[in-house]
Amino acid sequence: MTQKVDPINLIWLQAQGCTGDTIALLSARDPSLVDVMTGVLPEVENINIVFHHTIMAPWGEDCMQILLDAAAGKYDPFVLAVEGSIPDEAAAAKTGGYYCSVGEKDGKLYTANEVIDMLKPKAAAMVAVGTCACFGGFPAAGCNPTGAVGLMEYLGKNYKSTLGLPVINIAGCPPPGDSIIEAFATLALVARGALPVPELDEYNRPTFLYGATVHENCPRCGYLAGGTMSHHFGEPYCMGLLGCKGPHAHCPVAKNGFAEGYGGCPNVGTVCIGCTEPTFPDGIFSPFLKKNPVMFWVGEGVMDNVGKVKATLHRFVKRKI
Ligand code: SF4
Ligand code: SF4
Repeated sequence: MTQKVDPINLIWLQAQGCTGDTIALLSARDPSLVDVMTGVLPEVENINIVFHHTIMAPWGEDCMQILLDAAAGKYDPFVLAVEGSIPDEAAAAKTGGYYCSVGEKDGKLYTANEVIDMLKPKAAAMVAVGTCACFGGFPAAGCNPTGAVGLMEYLGKNYKSTLGLPVINIAGCPPPGDSIIEAFATLALVARGALPVPELDEYNRPTFLYGATVHENCPRCGYLAGGTMSHHFGEPYCMGLLGCKGPHAHCPVAKNGFAEGYGGCPNVGTVCIGCTEPTFPDGIFSPFLKKNPVMFWVGEGVMDNVGKVKATLHRFVKRKI
């Protein structure tokens, strides 16, 4: 019999988002959310979801009470996951309105910003799930009417949780459910002292998920090296000429698939649109089907030929087998 490990609570808040990250979470299969909740994996058992807009049983003011209790310490230790971007409520208040509420209690309306401010001193870890929560995403695109930002920018670059962690970004629009669970399971093991803090990249994305580009793991990359390109959707070759941004996007789906090892944009015939990157959906990612800059292909061609010349010259290096 395994020994019961200390409980870790999860509070999942939704700010300005489309619930796509929740849908992705619910589609995780390896392991599934149900596996985690029912303790199928002893290492990550005893994780309790105490608040999640979409899937929790309580409703109405009882939900808001959970958040107030969490701010008072009732659910320590808890991980705060945020889905969706954080608006500029100060700008909304100037017009007498608000952009994003989470709930009401005793006649008082709580915005997402207020709830995040209330919970941030207590959170053992803060996790931004999805590109809106990480970097602003779609709500921050173009003229950004609500002044939306990601959680990391909202809290400031010096923010640290009670475990001493910065905001951890699980980017993607949405990220695969299996990656979301993998990241939370890793944090649970960090909290229980079983794993070191995972390495993060310059945008606070765990490198075990976001260390490689889509292009580096793409099953079509061999066609590019051989010069065979798709000119129409449905062809099985490299989609660089159809606008694929895989060379610029750090993302696990080309390697891991989207659910249970299956799916993933270039794997199933659609171009990568770079949804895990901080400037998405603007900058080089807009419009989605625009081809990569010429210099990218020049660089790719040079490196490809350098690799082939190196391999040719290496034939003259003696080695023991
Ligand atoms: S389809 Fe996209 S990710 Fe795959 S090899 Fe071509 S450019 Fe790279
Ligand atoms: S392959 Fe590209 S578009 Fe697809 S999820 Fe990854 S970064 Fe986003």
